[in-house]
Amino acid sequence: MGYKKPSFIENIAEKLGIIPDLHKENYQEFQDDMRHFNDEEVAQMYENFPPPEKWDNWIEYDPKSWPKKDKKTYQIVPTTCFNCESACGLTAFIDKETQEVKKFEGNPHHPGSRGRNCAKGPATINQIKDPDRILFPLKRKGKRGEGEWERTSWDEALDTISARIRKAIKEDRHNEIAYHVGRPGKEKFMNWILQGWGIDGHNSHTNICSSGARFGYNLWYGYDRPSPDHANAKFILLVSAHLESGHYFNPHAQRIIEGKMKGAKLATMDPRLSNTASMSDYWLPSYPGTEAAVLLAMALVILEEGLYNKEYLENWTNWKEYLKAVHPDKEVTFDNYISAMIEEYKEFTPEFAEKESGVKADMIVEIAREIGIAGERFASHNWRAAGASNLGGWCVARALHFLTVLTGAVGAKGGTSPNSWNKFKPTQPNPPAPQKKWNELHFPKEYPLAFFEMSQLLPHFLKEGRGKMDVYFSRVFNPVWTYPDGFTWMEMYSDESKFGIHAALTPTWNETAFYADYVLPMGLASERHDLNSYATHGGTWVAFRQPVLREAARRNGNPVSLTYEANPGEVWEEDEFFIELSWRIDPDGSMGIRKHFESPYRPGEKITIDEYYQYIFERIKGLPEAAKADGFTGDFAELEYMKKYGAFAIEEGESYKVNERELTEEQLKGSKVDPETDVITKDGNPIGVMINGKACVGFPTPSRKNEFYSQTMVDWKWPEYATPTYIKSHIHNEVLDKSKGEYVLVPTFRLPTLIHSRSGNAKWLVEISNRNPIWMHPDDAAKWGFKTGDLVKMNTDIGYFIDKVWVTQSMKPGVVACSHHIGRWRRPQDKIGNRWATNTVNIENDGKGGWKMNTISGVKPFESTDSDSKRIFWKDGGVHQNITHAVHPDPISGMHCWHQRVRIEKPGKDEKYGDIFVDTNKSHEVYKEWLAMTRPAPGPNGERRPLWFNRAFTPDKSEGGCYYIPKDEK
Ligand code: SF4
Repeated sequence: MGYKKPSFIENIAEKLGIIPDLHKENYQEFQDDMRHFNDEEVAQMYENFPPPEKWDNWIEYDPKSWPKKDKKTYQIVPTTCFNCESACGLTAFIDKETQEVKKFEGNPHHPGSRGRNCAKGPATINQIKDPDRILFPLKRKGKRGEGEWERTSWDEALDTISARIRKAIKEDRHNEIAYHVGRPGKEKFMNWILQGWGIDGHNSHTNICSSGARFGYNLWYGYDRPSPDHANAKFILLVSAHLESGHYFNPHAQRIIEGKMKGAKLATMDPRLSNTASMSDYWLPSYPGTEAAVLLAMALVILEEGLYNKEYLENWTNWKEYLKAVHPDKEVTFDNYISAMIEEYKEFTPEFAEKESGVKADMIVEIAREIGIAGERFASHNWRAAGASNLGGWCVARALHFLTVLTGAVGAKGGTSPNSWNKFKPTQPNPPAPQKKWNELHFPKEYPLAFFEMSQLLPHFLKEGRGKMDVYFSRVFNPVWTYPDGFTWMEMYSDESKFGIHAALTPTWNETAFYADYVLPMGLASERHDLNSYATHGGTWVAFRQPVLREAARRNGNPVSLTYEANPGEVWEEDEFFIELSWRIDPDGSMGIRKHFESPYRPGEKITIDEYYQYIFERIKGLPEAAKADGFTGDFAELEYMKKYGAFAIEEGESYKVNERELTEEQLKGSKVDPETDVITKDGNPIGVMINGKACVGFPTPSRKNEFYSQTMVDWKWPEYATPTYIKSHIHNEVLDKSKGEYVLVPTFRLPTLIHSRSGNAKWLVEISNRNPIWMHPDDAAKWGFKTGDLVKMNTDIGYFIDKVWVTQSMKPGVVACSHHIGRWRRPQDKIGNRWATNTVNIENDGKGGWKMNTISGVKPFESTDSDSKRIFWKDGGVHQNITHAVHPDPISGMHCWHQRVRIEKPGKDEKYGDIFVDTNKSHEVYKEWLAMTRPAPGPNGERRPLWFNRAFTPDKSEGGCYYIPKDEK
């Protein structure tokens, strides 16, 4: 492209002042296709953001009136984005005259996002103005799933639900109450609620998302997520399309680019030439499921060429334990450790890795050397993708962290820290004790090491009579559509003996809410309270989501006491809903529940939302001082500060090498050191480790070090995986029958503008991305005689779906892929919703497990309060592929293994685009096949799960309590 001369019309427009003079000298300096901004220009851009002192009275020209200069006065209120986990800062621009939110921009005071957002952030405006959103609480009429609804009141819903919960708790049926969540947020809020009720009632989406990677990291160092310091790295290795679709999308993307601008090199391992891969110095198009083999080959190069960090390995890995357990014949010396590791990985030559993965051996060696040279400045990340797709996918994170350990980059500047070092934890009022219940519908005995709840198996557990759900909340959670095997979910949701009452807490309609008894509208991103803190970089921050119209009303002198009074319709928020529900469960306090939800400042009275957050904020390090310095002095000074800025940096760059911090004298009082292992214990619990004569805090593992050797894996019946290894995936080339047209389908990748089933209400986003064809390399397409747009039948283990082909060089030959966001639907009888994105479909069930879906019509223009709804030009709503996938729970980590063996064929003449078939009997058989691979609890001492493994909503761990399987149950 480069610099363009002004056109005749541009020349005139510029001269008349209709548009600014974009062509004056030096206005734009192009080098190739890029405009380059220097540091001063970038700083200027930040300064151009309205300064906080003007946020209550900010004047801009109305862009819609341009070239007329119509002034508009706004109030600017900060909040956070909810369109992915990153929780970037947003600022709502509220028209002062109409009190209507007009747009969202970034919040430069947010330390994670620093004023920047991806396309999904500003699209929040589409979501709050979506003409199809739900504005009032609804209750089903007729049979569940039939599509008939009537309006109800919050009071009625609260009374009915609370009475049912009260009854279940009083009858000791605690395990029949569950809160099932997709995107959580809400730092510890739901622990407070559910543990306040004394139930083990949390179920999450994590086993279809990230638990594979978490398990691999946790085995090493007791932390389950990485926090790469991309901006300071010299070499960055990403397993997956991380820039656009991985974890902490925008905050990481901007720091990866920052690192690259300072000279860092970027490598991406992904069978797709993703946006990230295309921005990388190295693209490693590995065959899916072989990533661990490539990483172990890199480890071998680093070991053989002596590129490892000797001091780190010697101090911070449990090598003595490894040698004693695995090589008792060898003397316990560091040199023997290195030679034993080289011996252990000798089969992982670069050539072997090339054979497995298709990535060239030369490239593997080159990258291994780059990593070795980068040393401590090696940043890496693996989240969903490979870790979430393969039998043994957890080995990918374990092998990746092996490289981080070898280079000594664990927790180093420019390296990769544990997530928890960069994450804030709130202190809550009246904290409840851990629950004394263990819910086997969430953590069954078969999966003692499962890193999160086995949520993808819930319908199968219910189907085979393991229990029921009497009161069930779904929240930002749409398993009928997002999960594998959605028809089995539909079967179970429809059965009132399996789900007694289902309350869907959702701002918009979705495929799961169609099967609820109550649909209770909760606020979108800018319509509720929440706390967020994520490990986006080498620093720690907290962000405050707030309902912006409520805050504007307060500033204008019209405060409301409950959020729904300021929100549109009767849209409420979970925080206030659950506090109110808790009071109604235990109205007189006799159940011991209410006391947790009383004000810490006004004894015996119900806690307000302001009091809850003030209690937390006044305990954040540095925030009281910052609030005071900003002029806030009253009882709610810290809350006022957060309402003003929306975020606070707790620390910047002080959280490196936390494991080396020394224990204080106070901490060491009464402790002892194990002479064999150097582990420091106090009251029977490890609290640190002696390193070169210093009492260091170490890592939260049994050895307090990085565990190259895992005694835990041995103790829990998986001795073959005691050290980092490679497990051939369920879709390994050896198990596919190419003569039958079998391929591996990669169904895990995201489109950067969409987010699961949460963006169907954002017209700008759906306008950009609205189809999910099958990506296919030209060589494969030629083999089949396919061209772009041809129909293809994708046969899975339990059924099929019919999609279109997209022929592209961006796909590794022999592998096909399909984005997982698209293919939303509603049936003709359902309430309308998400019409920007949904097909209208017909669903038939033969009553014997056979389910068919076909598309009646695609996306169409419609009449609404938004004139853009008449301008919809796209017709194709895509195809729902996940519903044709069987459940594939990894027998160790519990992670659903997303990749599918598919048999490709050309559809028959009567088969149409969007046709779907599934046999749920087959899906139950597949569930049983995978279940048979497990090695159930108990572990040592009758434990249900290793005591040192974290568990979300950790139950009481006292000996003989719910963490132990009763002897008569074994
Ligand atoms: S990365 Fe995008 S979608 Fe995610 S929180 Fe930030 S702006 Fe929102």
